[in-house]
Order: sequence, then C-alpha cells, then structure tokens
Amino acid sequence: MSAIDWARVRADFPLLTREVHGKPLVYLDAANTGQKPAAVIEAVDDFYRRHNANVSRAVHTLGTEATEAYEGARAKLARFVNVRGDELVLCSGTTFAINLVAYSWALPRLKAGDAIVLTRMEHHANIVPWQLVAQRTGASIKVAELTDSGELDLDRLYALLTPEVKLLGVTHVSNVLGTVNPVREICREARRRGIVTVVDGSQAAPHRALDIAAIGCDFYAFTGHKMCGPTGTGALWARRELLDAMPPFLGGGEMIKEVRFDGTVFNEGPHKFEAGTPNIAGFVGLGAAVDYLAGIGMDAIEAREKALLAHATEALSAIDGVRILGRPREKAAVISFLVDGAHAHDLATLLDLEGIAVRSGHHCAHPLMQHYGVPATCRASFAFYNTHEEIDAFVAALVKVRRLLA
Ligand code: PMP
Repeated sequence: MSAIDWARVRADFPLLTREVHGKPLVYLDAANTGQKPAAVIEAVDDFYRRHNANVSRAVHTLGTEATEAYEGARAKLARFVNVRGDELVLCSGTTFAINLVAYSWALPRLKAGDAIVLTRMEHHANIVPWQLVAQRTGASIKVAELTDSGELDLDRLYALLTPEVKLLGVTHVSNVLGTVNPVREICREARRRGIVTVVDGSQAAPHRALDIAAIGCDFYAFTGHKMCGPTGTGALWARRELLDAMPPFLGGGEMIKEVRFDGTVFNEGPHKFEAGTPNIAGFVGLGAAVDYLAGIGMDAIEAREKALLAHATEALSAIDGVRILGRPREKAAVISFLVDGAHAHDLATLLDLEGIAVRSGHHCAHPLMQHYGVPATCRASFAFYNTHEEIDAFVAALVKVRRLLA
C-alpha cells in the first residue's frame, strides 16, 4: 500500500482551515459529528444546482436523474457495508432506525413477561425507544454491566440471555469509552438462544471497515453525519424476511403501491419504510462520502486513528490529575476524561477559547455516567483528518487551562 499523504487528505476539509477565538481550530469532536470533505459539499451543491427533482414520481429527465442518484447512493452505501441494497432502509439516522425497529418489529410482538437486554454503555438512542416499548407492552429491561476496564462483562451478559429475552440491543462501539464490542460473538450467542439483535453502529461505521453481513445481527443501525456525510442521513439494515414481516412505521407517499379507501397495498422492501419525500440531496452527499472514504481505505483510516489515539492517550496520561475513563483492549479513537477539581463544562469552555473543540457533558449516556458516578466528562474524539500536532496543541492547552482552574 502506498503511503497516504494525510496533509493532503486534511486539505480536503474546508472547515478545518478556520479559526476560533483567533486560534487555529482543533476539531476533536468527530464522535459527535464529522467534518465534511469538499467532495461531499460539492455533490450536494451539484444536486441542487443541476439535478433537483423529487424521486420515484416524475418521468421527466430531472425526476429520473434524482431517482437514479438516490438509488445509486443506496447501492453505494450497501456495498460499503457489505449488504444488499434491498435490505437497506434509508432514514434520518440511527435514532430513526432504532425507533423503526422498536415500533415496527418490537411493539407488535413483545408482551408482558418478555424481556429486552441492553448494555450499560448504550447511547440514549438505544435505550429510550426500548423503554417506550417496554411501557406499552409490559416487557422488562435488563442491563448488561461493565468490567473495570470499561468492557462488557460477557459472562454476565450471556447469563442474562434467558428464555424470556426476545431482543438484545448493543452498541458496536461506545461513543463515550471507545470500547469496541465483540458484536459478532455476542450476536452468535443471542442467535443460538433465538434472540433478535439490534446493533448500534453509529460509532463503528465512520472508523473501520464494516461487514454487516459477517456480524450475524438481525438489525444494524448507523448514521451518515458521523461518516463525512450530511446531517439527516443514515440507514437501517435488516434481513429481508424481517423487513417483509414488519408493518410500516409511517404512512404516506412513496411507501405505497396502490391506495384505495377499501385497503392500501404497501411498497416492498426498504421503500415500505421510506414514507414521504426523502433527504435526496443528503443521500447524494452520503454517496459521495462513501466514495471518499473508500478512496482512502477504511483500513488506512483505522490505522491512522489508532496512531492518533495512542499519541493522545500517552500525552494525557502524563498530565497529573487527568483520569481517562475506561481502558478497553480494543478501542476506537475516543477519550473521555476527567480532571481533578475541574468541571467538564468549564474545561471545554476554556479549551474553546484556545481553539480546541471537545465535547463536555453526559454524551447521551446517562446510565454510563451513573456507573462512573459523575455527571459529565470531557471527550476528545479523533478522525483521520486530525494531526499529531493538533493533539500536542490540545494537550498544551489542557495543561494551561488546568492551571487557570486550579
Ligand atoms: N448511538 C451512538 C453510539 C451515537 O454516538 C449516536 C450519536 N451521538 C447515536 C446513537 C445517535 O445518532 P443520531 O443522532 O445521528 O441519530
């Protein structure tokens, strides 16, 4: 493999040249949302300038172009994650995708006495929909706990998978700890017990080569804006038999074949779940994002981010009073940390004055914060377009603001 010129890659991201408070921006919030390369911005711009029309309705040239662009993006995305296009529902993101499973698969099936297993490290998007289902069906929720290093305690997780469990929700990668969960093994254990699995891939898809077919899950949700794509894009993959067995979630145009007052015939496959005009330009942008990521290569991206993570972990660990949450063996480029005597929001505010963008807060993972007994953490998350110099700038700024807060 020829060496990648990461400085040239970085130059693809126009926003990264800007300044914040008179300092060069150091964007360390990729886990929250990713920055966009010019190729994505231009693809969206080109769609609106030259091709804009609605999909699947008009036979005129622009209508055909828009439909081809939208369906082309579905095909690209499907290839990128190694699934069939007719099993990929395009939607606004992980939150929508998991709610679709909750309302369309779980709600009609679960009943009092059934149970759902979730893990302590889930994002609220993979907790709250299940709580709503549990409230309406009488099902209960059981929680798989963590080890001291911030990994799933697999023995305890498997012990929870008793006959009343119908569904297991697990994140592929934790957005707070960076823990990469062994989802293949977990889904195998669930399947052996007849339990349906929902994997939240929000933090995996942007950072590693994804082979959803090989994971062996039933549902896989991910979000486009974290993988260089526009906001309001994402997808749910499900095995076709499951999609076919699920009633529609939302009703309206696009998701039907024929509407009559004595009975409506729904569209087939993923289209059954795509009611109304979709985010066409967004998916055109996501198609360009997938081309862009594939052009660099996900293995190269993963290796680059591992190097950035190692550098940042070493540098942060050397600062007195800094505590990193979780030390999982397999970890994505996310570091949640606390600093003795400083509130996470104060740190993030002062870091912003230095041009450094880190997130502070609960990261939509209250149960994980409860586990660590803290209301909030600071989180630095890295993408392949970050540099080692930015990590040095971040660490130097942290040492400075720490002194201010001491
Ligand atoms: N799950 C995880 C692990 C996430 O990190 C996020 C985004 N913060 C989500 C779900 C929700 O994604 P979205 O807001 O794009 O629906």
